[in-house]
Amino acid sequence: MSRPVRAEINLAHVRHNFALANQLAAPGQNVAVVKANGYGHGAVAVAKALGDIAPAFAVACIEEALELRRAGIQTPVLLLEGAFSAEEIEVAQRENFWLMVNNPVQVNMLQQAELASSENVSLIKVWLKVDTGMHRLGFEPGELTGVYRQLKSCSVVAEEIVVVTHFACADDVNNPKTSDQLALFNKAYQSLRDNNADTETIPVSLANSAALLAWPETNADWSRPGFMLYGNSPLLAEHEDAKKLKQAMTMKSEVIAVRTISAGESVGYGAQWSATKTSKIATVAMGYGDGYPCNAKVGTPVLINGQRCPLVGRVSMDMLTVDVTQLNQVAIGDEVILWGEDLTCNEIASYANTIGYEIMTRIPARVPRIYST
Ligand SMILES: *Cc1c(COP(=O)(O)O)cnc(C)c1O
Repeated sequence: MSRPVRAEINLAHVRHNFALANQLAAPGQNVAVVKANGYGHGAVAVAKALGDIAPAFAVACIEEALELRRAGIQTPVLLLEGAFSAEEIEVAQRENFWLMVNNPVQVNMLQQAELASSENVSLIKVWLKVDTGMHRLGFEPGELTGVYRQLKSCSVVAEEIVVVTHFACADDVNNPKTSDQLALFNKAYQSLRDNNADTETIPVSLANSAALLAWPETNADWSRPGFMLYGNSPLLAEHEDAKKLKQAMTMKSEVIAVRTISAGESVGYGAQWSATKTSKIATVAMGYGDGYPCNAKVGTPVLINGQRCPLVGRVSMDMLTVDVTQLNQVAIGDEVILWGEDLTCNEIASYANTIGYEIMTRIPARVPRIYST
């Protein structure tokens, strides 16, 4: 018998979520974002599951892109932070990686780059990032036309350059910042258009998951959904389309001990929680070393035999403890669900002062991913 911790991943749900993203993006297309190991779900498995329906994938760095290539995935891969060295530009030509261009150093590297000498090289499809208010990466709106021209004259850069921005507050449907960013973007884009021939194709990419769901006016040639593909809502408030998402991951374990303690006795490190009455405590093989948030509060729900029971005591590296006094029957080997379809990862995050994104991307390699299709 092996330790019972496992992340069960339903790839049919990922496909369902991508199909929903496609409906929302139509007639635009979606780059499926699989950075950070597919938000913890396994980038290769997710990319293979979407292989016939995703026109491109996006990752954070070239190592993640090469992992997809090593697994035999031939689809174009967008590097969201672009190239970090001249060598990466050469690799991008050979591997058909698309490069985000975020800063003048990257423009300079593309200007210096030479066409790789081999049969199977492609010109690099470049995505040019404009900073409209996120203030993280990208050029000033006023710099767009100039940088676009510089890129157009690079011998390694493909004809069509996608112009991109990224929203800071799209998860909040009441926040006017998204409309402000969109207006800034449209102004810069219009000025770029005015400076180029009407016949020139200049595709646009705007929306992340939240914008795709909640801000239809940000629909463009390309959207870039990530989080929603894994089935949790990226939005702060409830939303009709977000309700159609299906959480792909169920984090499971088992009860590995049960005991009864008296009033006044404590549980776990630091003796931080004490029973106020005679209580039955179940120990579960799941800890922060498996990606369960260490600062999950007392009362965080844990599903044991399908019933919500409160976490008590401090989460350990390999275990956590749950008050199961309310359950009639609980025994070693009983099934425990830490998050899944009936208990979303977002809900767990809300008890741990974090976000679902962080919980999913922090699941370490020691947790086996078990796939179903
Ligand atoms: C991560 C990322 C996305 C995907 O965002 P989600 O909120 O996961 O949909 C899109 N665009 C860029 C530039 C990103 O870095």
